[in-house]
Amino acid sequence: MRWDQVQEARHVLRKETGVIYKDWGGRIPIVLTYANTYYIGMSSLALHVLYRAFNAHPDVVCERAFWNPRRAREPVISLESQRPVTDCAVWAFTISYEMDYFHLVAMLRQAGMPPLAADRDESWPLVIGGGPALSANPEPVAPFFDAIVIGEGEEVIGPLVDALRAHAGDKGAILTALDGLPGFYVPSLRGAQGGRSRPPVQRLWVRDLTRQPTVSCILTPDTEFADLYLRGCGRGCRFCLAGYVYRPPREVPLAALLAWAREGLKRWRKIGLVSAAVSDYSEIDELAIRLREMGAKISVSSMRVDPISVPLVKALAESGTQTLTIAPEAGSTRLREVINKPQTDEQLLHAVELAESLKFPQLKMYFMIGHPTETEEDIQALIDLALAARRRFSRRLVLDATPYVPKPHTPFQWEAMTPAEVVRARQERIKRALASQRIVVRAESPEWAEVQGVLARGDRRLAHVLLSMEALSLAAWEEAQADAGLTADEYLRARTPGEPLPWDIVASGVAEGFFRYELRHARRNDLTPGCPPQAQGCLRCQACDSDWAFRSGAGRKPWVAPISLLEPSLT
Ligand code: SF4
Repeated sequence: MRWDQVQEARHVLRKETGVIYKDWGGRIPIVLTYANTYYIGMSSLALHVLYRAFNAHPDVVCERAFWNPRRAREPVISLESQRPVTDCAVWAFTISYEMDYFHLVAMLRQAGMPPLAADRDESWPLVIGGGPALSANPEPVAPFFDAIVIGEGEEVIGPLVDALRAHAGDKGAILTALDGLPGFYVPSLRGAQGGRSRPPVQRLWVRDLTRQPTVSCILTPDTEFADLYLRGCGRGCRFCLAGYVYRPPREVPLAALLAWAREGLKRWRKIGLVSAAVSDYSEIDELAIRLREMGAKISVSSMRVDPISVPLVKALAESGTQTLTIAPEAGSTRLREVINKPQTDEQLLHAVELAESLKFPQLKMYFMIGHPTETEEDIQALIDLALAARRRFSRRLVLDATPYVPKPHTPFQWEAMTPAEVVRARQERIKRALASQRIVVRAESPEWAEVQGVLARGDRRLAHVLLSMEALSLAAWEEAQADAGLTADEYLRARTPGEPLPWDIVASGVAEGFFRYELRHARRNDLTPGCPPQAQGCLRCQACDSDWAFRSGAGRKPWVAPISLLEPSLT
């Protein structure tokens, strides 16, 4: 470890408030890592929640570490005490995106550890992973981990700490204990491809959101929000992993959110509202108005427009928010029906007019290119919609044209990924059509999206591809893939419902019959309803169970029966 590395960590700490410092003596040391940069990691609310939850145990000390590309040849150290991560008992990774798998392997190497769990003896820390990417399909990186958490991490911290206490220093006993706990996947005890002879690992979700505040605990000028988390989304957009991996939608009562905000505002002025669908919160208008009355500046990541919450948009404008982001996702009404996100052109353009009248400096429109069944007509509709927005919005207009990647545990999990050359041609067409219209078109690389597509629906053989890459480049990826005797096509192809899938190791809670039902409706351009409002719960997709759906205060159920009973032919 170099002196300037320590100095850099201390410089970061001096700018932060809310850091928890504990002596390591007599405590279980855990290093929590977001497998990306400090800036991106500190914007992850999960990191804050887990940091606070681990440190709530008096006999645990939890510190943070991040991927730092500028220090790729130096050992990984924890931020708080600047110790090498190899000194800790547990190195816990939270991973949101498949592309962070490259950083995971790089960090294990950088720390001087054998990357594969099978090559690590008792002298190395236990390496545990979690986060949405791993909860959807852990297989491509399973060989790197001693254990993987499937679902929401808050649910397993208590049992994990109990197992570490009970079997201190005995890795085998700890893993055997974790293997018997709900939500833990221990790859070495399951055998190849997740051990199909055993039942899949059930995804965990938090039932009582008020048990601990889901808010940021460390403030830094580099990521300046006190975030409040409104969990889950019940819309049922068919492309969206977050809409399934965080089911069922749950709501923190307004009084609790306001109490957490009141605490945050003692130290910070900005409150970020974090959710897959912030404006679906049943009391969003009231929340926005009350937060403004408390003097908070508000931000959100993006805005549903069906319907749009005018009080929330006004609160954003009054807070000095520079950008209003809307996400049509697809250009035509037909394609928005295929993906089950039925925002009309009128609703979208009404939001654009609102952004103009409230003088937002920038409007961002987010689209995905390559949805199943997309045609050139859908691309023309996207261009027409962007031009209509341009006529209504006079300031900076940005259009994101991101390649669509089919994800596991969504209704499109069986669909083929649209080839990179087709996506690129469509992105180029959009750029050409809008070049003279003062619209900034951002188009992510379709080739790298294919890499993401391979990792998202991949299997354990990909661990060896990740391991044998000599540099982080497309050429190195393709070479390592070919050396392993693999092709991208075998991962990007369409799958047949019913064929074994690498992510069968995870029981997401949503019945497979529900995904088939959704896929059938997608192919007919049919919309289906989302979850009942106000997080009431039901039994339709079966992510809720009857304990949850019939809990007291859950209200009347408009859709109670599981889809498998309504359409038995699907199961
Ligand atoms: S069972 Fe009903 S409320 Fe629960 S996640 Fe599924 S559709 Fe939504």
